Amino acid sequence: MEKKVTRIGVLTSGGDSPGMNAAIRAVVRTGIHYKLEVFGIMRGYQGLIDDDIFQMESKSVANIIQRGGTILKTARCKEFFEPEGRKKAYDNLKKSGIDGLVIIGGDGSFRGAVKFSQEFDIPCVGVAGTIDKDINGTDFTIGFDTAVNTAVEAIDKVRDTMEAHDRIFVIEVMGRDAGYIALHSGIATGAENILIPERKTNMENLVESLMEKEKRKKLVNLIVVAEGDDFGGANKVQGVLQEKMPNAEIRVCILGHIQRGGSPSCLDRLIASRMGYHAVESLVEGRHNVFVGIVNNKMHYMPLENAVKSKGKVSEEWLKIMKILAS
Ligand code: ADP
Repeated sequence: MEKKVTRIGVLTSGGDSPGMNAAIRAVVRTGIHYKLEVFGIMRGYQGLIDDDIFQMESKSVANIIQRGGTILKTARCKEFFEPEGRKKAYDNLKKSGIDGLVIIGGDGSFRGAVKFSQEFDIPCVGVAGTIDKDINGTDFTIGFDTAVNTAVEAIDKVRDTMEAHDRIFVIEVMGRDAGYIALHSGIATGAENILIPERKTNMENLVESLMEKEKRKKLVNLIVVAEGDDFGGANKVQGVLQEKMPNAEIRVCILGHIQRGGSPSCLDRLIASRMGYHAVESLVEGRHNVFVGIVNNKMHYMPLENAVKSKGKVSEEWLKIMKILAS
């Protein structure tokens, strides 16, 4: 029979996303509800290796549900890629008596947890926290809704000035491997073109359509591009367009890190609270080495190793809608 979990650790790892604090809060308070001792681990796997671990109480997570970022901080930790690093992490967990881990992060953090749980007898449960929404096996990831709303708000503002000046704007949003932020924010702001990594960008077609629009005096065009588009980011797209259309006013706006910050949306707070709660329940009930997802509004538990990037899986329906509405 599996040993009962009594002391759990919680960490946030990889790219931060708004709503991580709400997830930490849910983990801590659910843990306490189940009479577990809960420990916070600073800066993701780095804190495990550095033994930066402290006990948390209910009041440690007071007044954080509305805050962006993560009170536990996050990091990318090279040492954790090496077996020696993971052994150090394990020794520190043993020393603290921690016998279960909740990892709030993206697919990279989950890959680390897979290795760790295969090597050592510490059950891990993942909570999908990433603005990129690129985790297989969940309809939601913590932070996506806030990030995409931040992008929409910013793009709307750029559109005002774009319309006033009859300009073409190339706006770059986050998404190194995934185009969800670009696709969703682009559709929601009525972008004429959306360039995403999952689709090969046909620059000739884009130039042709813009030149055709220029001929019929449609000078305003909004192009939303994901930073990881196969053609390159906004600057590259602008460079090519300007060369082919020397008379057009083509400007670039890179939204950058504002998309990661800010107070989480109501949806992200709810998702984070729900996932954090179920992550602790999973540890208590013996559903180990899974991550907690939501599919069709039901909780969904998938082995951590299945949470690979769902690259290229952007919905055909949305792509079709985008094409029809943007004409
Ligand atoms: P995210 O979780 O946002 O996708 P990363 O891909 O940067 O972010 O991963 C976060 C951390 O997870 C890495 O810095 C590393 O410590 C750990 N990690 C990622 N992939 C692996 C792996 N294959 N083996 C061990 N640790 C890993």
